[in-house]
Amino acid sequence: MIGTRERSLEKLTAATDFDLLVIGGGITGAGIALDAASRGARVALVEANDFASGTSSKSSKLVHGGLRYLEHYEFGLVREAAQERDLLRVLAPHLVEPIPFVLPVSDKWMRAKFGVGLWAYDALASFKNLQTHRYLETEETEAAVPVLPRNKVKGGFLFYDCKNDDVRLVMEVLIQAVRHGAVVANYCKVVNLDPGADGCTATVSDAVSGTTFDVRATRVIAAAGVWSDEIEHLANAGAPERTRPSKGIHLSFRRSKLPLADHAAFIPDVERQRMLFVIPWLDAVIVGTTDTAYPGSIDHPCVEDEDRRYVLDSINSVFDLGLTPADIAGAWAGLRPLVMGEAGSTADLSRRHTIYDIAPSVVGITGGKLTTYRRMAKDVVDHVAGAIGVGTKCRTGWIRLGTVDLDSLFAAVQRRARRLGMARDATENLIRCYGDRALGVIDVAEREGLEGPLVEGAQPTAAEAVYCARSEMAVHLNDLLSRRTRLALTDPAAGIGSRSRAAELMGHTLGWSEQELHAQVDAHRAEVERERGACLGAEMDPSEESSVRAL
Ligand SMILES: Cc1cc2nc3c(=O)[nH]c(=O)nc-3n(C[C@H](O)[C@H](O)[C@H](O)COP(=O)(O)OP(=O)(O)OC[C@H]3O[C@@H](n4cnc5c(N)ncnc54)[C@H](O)[C@@H]3O)c2cc1C
Repeated sequence: MIGTRERSLEKLTAATDFDLLVIGGGITGAGIALDAASRGARVALVEANDFASGTSSKSSKLVHGGLRYLEHYEFGLVREAAQERDLLRVLAPHLVEPIPFVLPVSDKWMRAKFGVGLWAYDALASFKNLQTHRYLETEETEAAVPVLPRNKVKGGFLFYDCKNDDVRLVMEVLIQAVRHGAVVANYCKVVNLDPGADGCTATVSDAVSGTTFDVRATRVIAAAGVWSDEIEHLANAGAPERTRPSKGIHLSFRRSKLPLADHAAFIPDVERQRMLFVIPWLDAVIVGTTDTAYPGSIDHPCVEDEDRRYVLDSINSVFDLGLTPADIAGAWAGLRPLVMGEAGSTADLSRRHTIYDIAPSVVGITGGKLTTYRRMAKDVVDHVAGAIGVGTKCRTGWIRLGTVDLDSLFAAVQRRARRLGMARDATENLIRCYGDRALGVIDVAEREGLEGPLVEGAQPTAAEAVYCARSEMAVHLNDLLSRRTRLALTDPAAGIGSRSRAAELMGHTLGWSEQELHAQVDAHRAEVERERGACLGAEMDPSEESSVRAL
């Protein structure tokens, strides 16, 4: 468990100095906090909004080598990412799940090109990919991806990568950081930095109480993704800009609309200039992503008309499903924190990370990928190890994230869940989300009679609303519906309204007044509408909210 926010704030505001303050609670910051805390450093981490609310909740949900990066000859990156993928399968087996991909081909040229690429992909993983790739004949390809129209493909390649739930990965890493002594808090924004040679004082604004306080640390690491330049300017107003945000969007569909069973597909877009992923994920299928330079507000990326049209046209050009905007179940937009480079298009910019000194006691890190967060953390903690008095031996390659023995966990959870009459998919979802802590959620379900679904027909259970508010620092309704559970991404109604008891259960746990409860529902709705942008579904009907009430 990550602990309560109140307890974290008490520790942050106590007069003691920390060895390291990490700014940013996405995957990069979480990884740094765990790495440094497990080497023995006294670590604090503050996140301006909710944990993983930045890019780390908006990814394609892959833990992968990155087949696409071979086009740019990024052999080192692919090799490193493939090694990290394989390690993460061991460290977080409940969360990082192998998935077979089919790459359909329609002519000999494509077969030759992809065959060479996939051979290199296997070679860079030292032929330790889950299975080496193989060619599928036409019938096998059609059987693996039944929505492919007959006679359109000539065959395909089968290869393996992994998928995960990006927010849940961040939460597991943060929980381990806390177990190793780190103090973490969300809704705490760094608004000023006062760096000196022997340490730095950060002024932090608490968005929940409206107060500010100072945190002093020997070193500060800014792991703020696309906000990195903003942080750098707090310490050094004249610093040049380093990050170049690139926007990527995803659409999700109900499985009945885009029926993929177990296999994911890699499909060419309408212009055949890049490939799109079509991935069965939770109870939906997600399609993405785009890669476009983003000049807008970094706080509020959204899915625009053009993005939606591009992705829908791409799916419809490959699958004969005639999908329309009304079929979209969810949509989200994220910004890649790419490092400025010479390349003209953002798609050509490297996915490597970069570490830079901002001031004598402040270091920045940006770029990289979710998959390689552990290596990024190791590199930057090595960079400050001498200053904060820890060794250069990284320990995170051995620290389990969530569970050790999946089979025993499954048996234990299944036994208790069956007694409570919980559906099998809800039980599996609990294990996927919480690892060993699934038993803690079942305790809540049993004690408080909350074993039913949070929203009719969806996997998350009602008990999760209470558990996440109590034990995972979910402060707002949106934290629960968009991140701790992913209803806002896969449910056309985004978990809003009379179909959802989420607001009532959270409100009861956190002591919301009736007025606060309605404000939370409105804020969640506004956030989903803003992000879905051009993809608002008909099911997000305001009348649904009328029956929400305080308990
Ligand atoms: C569309 C898309 C698809 C992707 N798909 C994949 C994929 O499938 N696999 C993969 O490996 N990678 C993928 N990536 C890349 C990956 O998601 C990112 O590299 C990674 O999530 C970046 O994490 P981060 O922690 O550096 O940044 P973020 O997650 O953005 O975290 C930075 C945090 O800093 C906080 N912050 C900002 N300012 C302050 C402040 N003043 N005080 C305190 N906190 C602050 C922000 O609120 C934010 O939460 C994808 C990226 C995109 C955009």
